[in-house]
Amino acid sequence: SADLAMYHSKEHGRDQLYFFEQQMQQQLRQRQKLEHELKLALTEQQFSLYYQPKVNSVRQLAGYEALIRWHHPEQGMVPPDLFIPLAESSGLIIDIGTWVLKTACLQIKYFVDQGARLAIAVNVSQRQLVQKDFVDTVQQIIKDTGIQANLLELEITESMLHDDLEATRQKLLALSDIGVTFSLDDFGTGYSSLSYLKNLPIHVLKIDQSFVKEFLIEKTDRAIVLTIIAMAETLGLMVVAEGVEQQQQFEELAEMGCALFQGYLFGKPAPLPELMSKKINLVDAKQ
Ligand code: C2E
Ligand code: MG
Ligand code: MG
Ligand code: MG
Repeated sequence: SADLAMYHSKEHGRDQLYFFEQQMQQQLRQRQKLEHELKLALTEQQFSLYYQPKVNSVRQLAGYEALIRWHHPEQGMVPPDLFIPLAESSGLIIDIGTWVLKTACLQIKYFVDQGARLAIAVNVSQRQLVQKDFVDTVQQIIKDTGIQANLLELEITESMLHDDLEATRQKLLALSDIGVTFSLDDFGTGYSSLSYLKNLPIHVLKIDQSFVKEFLIEKTDRAIVLTIIAMAETLGLMVVAEGVEQQQQFEELAEMGCALFQGYLFGKPAPLPELMSKKINLVDAKQ
């Protein structure tokens, strides 16, 4: 019967292995399906950009961040956190990223034609930044759309600065030279190395929303927020608080010296800025 027990456990193990294989197969198929659909999404024009306002301490509009949305024919809206990683691992992010840049620059052009000099921030992926022709691509889009380069802001993250820092530095410098500005997104969540801030043309720090979320009650988060604001001030950088949802967060952050604010309190990302219908005071964030 000891043999029998062993037989059963082996059998059981085999069943389990079979089950896991089935699961992995299914996950792989789902991934391949989504990747295939993602490929089609660009040609089928299923992507759009949403825009979220950034405001200054007196709630004047200071610019927008462009955030991609995928309107999947069956699944409806797929959030970027679900498909951007797949776009990155499959390499599709290169074409998608170029589309995002073009679309955002056309929107900048549209604003300017309406008499509003508004900057738009665009999120850039690691995969895009490491492309040899990244600088050329951005420059070409700026040229084709005829916008002023200083109205385009590129958001990168600290984690993108790990490999080949010198090549990255050269790219940021080349674009910075023509007026493009750079922000460090989700600041404080990566390896916040001060040498990045010293050696790279970074103009803006975006305090990650995880700190903003809790700083009213968490002492540590408050200390981190204060430190980032103080550091930005010392280094002459602009600072943006992300994920501001409550009036009290806004007021205290402003008191702490934060310059710009972004979050549901001021507006969720929306298909097209209702700029022309609302009467909004414009400020130049790049002053
Ligand atoms: P992110 O660049 O840090 O963008 C901020 C995210 O926080 C956005 O989520 C925005 O909708 C959300 N958010 C803004 N205010 C609030 C708030 O008050 N409360 C809360 N809970 N959330 C708020 P979203 O649009 O889902 O984008 C998620 C991430 O996907 C972005 O984080 C960015 O890393 C990435 N992403 C979005 N669009 C693009 C794109 O065009 N290209 C690339 N490479 N990545 C993108
Ligand atoms: Mg961002
Ligand atoms: Mg962020
Ligand atoms: Mg993020």
